[in-house]
Amino acid sequence: MSHMIQKLLNCNLEELSGQARAVREQAFGKAVFLRGLVEISSYCRNNCYYCGLRRSNSKAGRYRLSQEEILACCEQGYAAGLRTFVLQSGEDSHLNDERMIPIVQEIRKRWPDCAITLSLGERSRESYQALFEAGAERYLLRHETANAAHYAKLHPLELDLQNRMRCLHNLREAGYQVGVGFLVGSPGQTQEHLQEELAFLQKFKPEMVGIGPFLPHKDTPFANEPPGSLELTLRLLAITRILLPGANIPSTTALGTLHSAGREWGLRAGANVLMPNLTPAAVREHYRLYDGKVVEGLQSLRESVARAGYEIIVGRGDPHG
Ligand code: SAH
Ligand code: SF4
Repeated sequence: MSHMIQKLLNCNLEELSGQARAVREQAFGKAVFLRGLVEISSYCRNNCYYCGLRRSNSKAGRYRLSQEEILACCEQGYAAGLRTFVLQSGEDSHLNDERMIPIVQEIRKRWPDCAITLSLGERSRESYQALFEAGAERYLLRHETANAAHYAKLHPLELDLQNRMRCLHNLREAGYQVGVGFLVGSPGQTQEHLQEELAFLQKFKPEMVGIGPFLPHKDTPFANEPPGSLELTLRLLAITRILLPGANIPSTTALGTLHSAGREWGLRAGANVLMPNLTPAAVREHYRLYDGKVVEGLQSLRESVARAGYEIIVGRGDPHG
């Protein structure tokens, strides 16, 4: 394992954050990019042990937005100054290419100055390709953990790390900016796993990285597991920024849920992206990945940015370098 990673993991957090801020400011100045998140479906065919949307959770409320509803969310986001839309969902079999392609094409046509990001889970190489050709240019698919044995503790056998990695390579080959990511403090995670995470980031060099604490959900097998630590999440954010100076790194909703100042601290530890939620209020409560999930509006995010000493930029916010 690299000596540098070992050193960074043991470094003082204040020092580490300072170093990460310097790297981030060299790449992006004080700019913070916004992404409007539209949670388009809460149906999921998977059964990840950590997630409230898992198929075996019969208590989860299920909904699916229509094309018109999705476009209305984008419309509202555009008016508020957002220039990236992220369509995220559980792995919903109903959202096949036949249904997704027209949605992506329509967003592309109506808002040609916006970036379209998808986060729909594992799909075939052909599907990724077709959605890219329809106009999506970024894809978020967290690997969750870079260690295969640990992956098997977080997921049933039907999911495996090898396939997740194959998807990530297929996404890259299709031409996407690719976002990976992992849970901090997920059950069974060790210091060595974290070193493997960072080594994977160095090797794969993703354009985006989502890092958030594991948070328990009461109707999952991990209901009684403790949440990931704030300190450790900030430490990993900062190290990730140092390793990938030009990457887009969000200060995540999970971080904001763990602590009310979490997102601000995330920005101060090297994150440069915030994702305001555009999901219609009527269904929002059903997209519950973990308990206590906060939904922050644009106004409170703007205030966090100002308090952290940064500045929101209206634009697509592509990665640097
Ligand atoms: N179904 C898609 C997208 C929705 S889930 C997918 O799995 O990629 C989006 C992310 O939410 C997951 O990648 C996971 O990292 C995060 N998530 C799910 N359950 C969580 C929990 N209990 N605590 C923290 N993050 C969680
Ligand atoms: Fe489904 Fe994604 Fe949740 Fe897994 S993490 S159960 S794939 S929504």
